[in-house]
Amino acid sequence: MNSSASSVVDPAAPPRSNPIRIGVSACLLGREVRWDGGHKRDRFVTDGLGRFVEFVPLCPEVESGLSIPRPTLRLAGEIDDPRLVFGDSGADYTEVMRSFARARLHTLADLDLCGFILKSDSPSCGLERVRVYGKGGMALRKGRGLFAAELAARFPLLPLEEEGRLNDAKLRETFVERVFAYRRWLDFVAAGVSLARMVDFHRIHKYLLLAHSPEHYAACGRLVARGKALSRAELREQYGELFMRGMARAATRGRHTNVLQHMAGYFKKQLDAASKDELHRTLDDYSDGLVPLIVPITLIRHHVRVFGLAYLEEQVYLAPHPKELMLRNQV
Ligand code: SF4
Repeated sequence: MNSSASSVVDPAAPPRSNPIRIGVSACLLGREVRWDGGHKRDRFVTDGLGRFVEFVPLCPEVESGLSIPRPTLRLAGEIDDPRLVFGDSGADYTEVMRSFARARLHTLADLDLCGFILKSDSPSCGLERVRVYGKGGMALRKGRGLFAAELAARFPLLPLEEEGRLNDAKLRETFVERVFAYRRWLDFVAAGVSLARMVDFHRIHKYLLLAHSPEHYAACGRLVARGKALSRAELREQYGELFMRGMARAATRGRHTNVLQHMAGYFKKQLDAASKDELHRTLDDYSDGLVPLIVPITLIRHHVRVFGLAYLEEQVYLAPHPKELMLRNQV
């Protein structure tokens, strides 16, 4: 046992010079920019996440030239290619919004956004299940807001989420993990991609990615293994896409349990009978839904620290985002 072991590293702590910057529909921050002059302040966004990130607020409707208050907009026509029109007059606002969005998104490219939180149900900002009105006035909840569609097309790897879905503890944890993972990926790319650094990045993200998608972890591994045959740009493009697509899959209790068991395998033999029993019971309790993820994680972090297991200490999985958010206390 190595009693002089260093404490578990906190890979989630972002360098001070690289803030976690998140775009957000301005009304979610409490800005009175809605069609009726109101707002939709979201407490998790402002009071929870807001303590750890820098927001880039944006209201596509106001910034594209509309007033407050204003007539409501709606999506109408084809589900796959709806128009953005005014509900009262039917006047078409599609091209104005589209060209505004493209120009505005261009200005965001240098900000290193790590995520975007969008207002649900909005014909401009809604990410999914936005009402699209057909000819007879019937609406199907199958659309995407026009600005959100341009955003997703311009930044395909950027973690996007709606504020309503962030009320779900699992979706919230997944989104925040993706945001912090994207920050680390951007930092990695900015520092210069080499095969050796790629191997390091892949290694420290092993258990985090496994908890989200074993398939993407395996595919990333195969890519790194043949990295010598690829240019640095190919390696960066392909790995970044696989990594972020894998992180976009929600981590499940079953996959977390697998990851925790793998980690426990590194030190199980060094534990006395009582500690081994405690570890078993804790993993079983988590697997059965009796305790949240933070319980087995805390126990494993303790053993990793006590035994000085460098390979596990560096795993991002053990601290993927600030503990003050308490996200793993609820999943
Ligand atoms: S949903 Fe989007 S367009 Fe509507 S008020 Fe909020 S930020 Fe503006």
